[in-house]
Amino acid sequence: SSFAHFGFDEQLMHQIRKSEYTQPTPIQCQGVPVALSGRDMIGIAKTGSGKTAAFIWPMLIHIMDQKELDPGDGPIAVIVCPTRELCQQIHAECKRFGKAYNLRSVAVYGGGSMWEQAKALQEGAEIVVCTPGRLIDHVKKKATNLQRVSYLVFDEADRMFDMGFEYQVRSIASHVRPDRQTLLFSATFRKKIEKLARDILIDPIRVVQ
Ligand code: AMP
Repeated sequence: SSFAHFGFDEQLMHQIRKSEYTQPTPIQCQGVPVALSGRDMIGIAKTGSGKTAAFIWPMLIHIMDQKELDPGDGPIAVIVCPTRELCQQIHAECKRFGKAYNLRSVAVYGGGSMWEQAKALQEGAEIVVCTPGRLIDHVKKKATNLQRVSYLVFDEADRMFDMGFEYQVRSIASHVRPDRQTLLFSATFRKKIEKLARDILIDPIRVVQ
């Protein structure tokens, strides 16, 4: 397969060419069309599979469509992941590809400065990449709000469960409008993840790396 099959516009293709990827990975070939269709998705994929770009590229297109419909404030896309390191990596990819449309990304994670993160959130961003507890803290303090969120990603869900974030993950899902698009990524598909998927996704398509 090739990137041309995704039907991305020239601005996004330009950023992809700059990244020097020669062809989409299997999770991208299968996942990108599903995410672009607007359906909920379960991605069973490990780090190194190219899963991050598989949810970021469709996210950018979703945001551009949504921005016109709802020119409010607050993020349109929220990506929830288990660790500070992953947060920073995903944020870097959001910035890299988000350049295509001048979209802004903010990373908020436990251990970073609450004040600096709140300031960045208040300056405005279409994309927020976060660890679960820290996002909830910022919402409680009204540094941001989830009213405009319509694209919600949970990355490495199994690891978030192992780290004891199940309650926070479910809380975030319950505070985002029900007509959102939700994508759930996990390296494994255990009973607890299956149950989570049943509770927070609607009629999802399953894609395996
Ligand atoms: P991920 O699984 O999302 O953590 O991605 C693993 C690494 O693969 C990252 O360094 C990406 O920049 C890179 N990558 C993502 N998509 C592709 C692709 N289509 N071709 C080559 N490398 C890629």
